[in-house]
Parts: sequence; C-alpha cells; structure tokens
Amino acid sequence: MTAHIRPDLEAIPAYVPGRNHPGAVKLASNETTFGPLPAAAKAIAEAAEAANRYPDNQASELRAALARFLDVAVANIAVGCGSVALCQELVQITCAAPSDEVVFAWRSFEAYPIVTQVGNATAVKVPLTADLSHDLDAMAAAVTERTKLIYVCNPNNPTGTALGRAELERFLDAVPRRVLVVLDEAYYEYLRLTPETRPDGVELGRTRPNVVVLRTFSKAYGLAGLRAGYAVGAPEVITALMKVHIPFSVNRVAQAAAIASLEARHELLDRTDTLIVERERVRDALLAAGYRVPPSETNFVWLPLGSRSAEYGEASADEGVLLRPYGADGVRVTIGDPHENDRFLRFATDPAVLERFAG
Ligand SMILES: *Cc1c(COP(=O)(O)O)cnc(C)c1O
Repeated sequence: MTAHIRPDLEAIPAYVPGRNHPGAVKLASNETTFGPLPAAAKAIAEAAEAANRYPDNQASELRAALARFLDVAVANIAVGCGSVALCQELVQITCAAPSDEVVFAWRSFEAYPIVTQVGNATAVKVPLTADLSHDLDAMAAAVTERTKLIYVCNPNNPTGTALGRAELERFLDAVPRRVLVVLDEAYYEYLRLTPETRPDGVELGRTRPNVVVLRTFSKAYGLAGLRAGYAVGAPEVITALMKVHIPFSVNRVAQAAAIASLEARHELLDRTDTLIVERERVRDALLAAGYRVPPSETNFVWLPLGSRSAEYGEASADEGVLLRPYGADGVRVTIGDPHENDRFLRFATDPAVLERFAG
C-alpha cells in the first residue's frame, strides 16, 4: 500500500515530458534563441566556482540592482525561483482556506490554476472576450467577499493580447483594496504601446498597495534555464512573500547572471526590436494565408484553431516544428530566429495544411 497523498492532487495532470524530435525547431516555450551575453556568461562561470557556498537568501545585491533600475526601495522587491514560484507564493500569502477564491482570465497562463489548487484555494476562471483579451468588467464582477487574489496576465499568455493603461487603471480602481491584484508582466519588454497607453505595473503600483507586479529574467533577458523572477509591491506584501519563500531557491548562479544581464539590458532589449519585426512578419504571412491571428504584444503569436489545435501541433511536429497546442482553444507559436520562423511558415502556409486547418 502506498502512503496517503492528498486526493485532490489527482485533478492536476502529471507532468508529461514533451516528445523528443532530434533536429526539430522548438517554438514551444517562448524562450530567447540567443545564449547569455559574454558578461553574463562570465558572471555565471565565476558564481559557479563558489558553488560550495549557499547563496544569499535575501538576494541583496540583485534586489539592490533591481531597486535602482526600477526606482523603488529594496523593501519593495522580492525575488523568486522564476516568477512562477512567486505565483505560487502569492497564493500562499493570501489564501488559507478552500473557500478562498483566486480570480483569473481563461485561457491564460497555465500555472494559475495549478498554483491555486496546490495552495488549496478555489479558482474562478473568467472567459476572455471575443477578441481574446481579458474581460476586465467580468473579472471585476467576479470579485466576491471570498476573493483573495486576482491574476492579470498582461500581455496575456497564450493569446498575446495586451490591455492598455486606461482600462487597467479603471479595473484597479474598481477592485476592493483588500484584494491583492497581481499584474504578471512576463512579456513587458515586448510591449510596444505608446508611453500614454503602455501599462507599466510598477508605476500603477506606486499609489496602490494592493498591486504586485511580476517580471522575469526568463523571457527577454534570456535566462530561462537559471530561474530568476521578481515581484514589486508594498513592503508588507514583500515581507510576507519572503516568509513563504523556499530557502535558497534562487541560487547564486541565477543571482549573478541576473545582475550581469540587468547591467547589459540595453543590448538585450535591442534584440526585442528585432524580434518584433519578425513577429509582425510572421503574423502578416499568417493573416495573408487566411489564419485568424490576434495582434500580439509578446514574443509569440496565437492561432485560435479550436478543436483542431492538437492535430495542428502534431502535424507541425511531424514536419520538425514544435509548437504548443492548448486543449481545444488554440496553438501558441513562439517567434524564433528568421530561419526557424521560415520553417514554421513553410509548414503553416503549405496548401495541404491550409486546406485542413485555415479558414
Ligand atoms: C514565462 C512566464 C512566467 C514566468 O516564468 P519564469 O520562468 O518562472 O520566470 C510567468 N508568467 C507568464 C505569463 C509567463 O508566460
């Protein structure tokens, strides 16, 4: 007989490793295709030499660097083992009973329902609008006495759509101050809205202590393999996050690489301009071929293929292009290097594929 395990965990699918396709192009995880910059590689090598020592559990140097970069206090910043760990910690600091509710849009980041359930709370999923954006009015209306936490993924993974500043401000003003609102800005660096319309969570949070912002070094900063993300919020929220933090889970190599990458951010952020040119090229080609593709403010595009999504993902994998299908909703396509994107477009615009899936 095996030991007792929480029976409710059976509702969470066990992790299934992706199929291995040697030589395939991987456009499935929103990663950056470039390796770390030389300065980051050097910091990584140096930090690895001290691997016998525990990392700084307060991540003091990294938090100080982030505080300078964002013009906030060190007390406003927590770091996590990727921002996905912070997603889980945010449930842990707000929810204490199964009746506690966590509101988020659906479809959105797949970690939200999982961390909600792991945290023993109840997920309240609010469907996206017809144009695949957050339905902020419906989300505000879904707030009850039991609501403890709201995730707003902006821009949204996996649909790529972004909320503008004014609508987000209206929403934040409508939510009761006792509810913590998480603005998950994992793709912030890919937003290209104007300074007036661009929602900057850190700015919105300055006057709203119930707002916490999540950003990550995994996407535009290209350090997905090292696991470093951060939260910006009121000192009380940050203090609570540090209480539930798994000790030493942000390792010294990750801290060193994040500091070096932050220092070299101009070089990294220049790359996002190139990526955005590619994103628009891919989207235009897909639109011209007859696909529906919502505008994207991220490093991926979304194909709302409905019940044909899984089949599309299999067909592309057979052609050596790995994409990320999501149930019966759609397929997410990460923008890679031009030659990788070309390989995807060759598949996507093949007349046989178009006949099967587009239109
Ligand atoms: C990728 C992603 C994250 C964070 O990833 P980490 O690697 O854990 O920092 C968080 N939120 C969204 C919406 C993402 O897509």
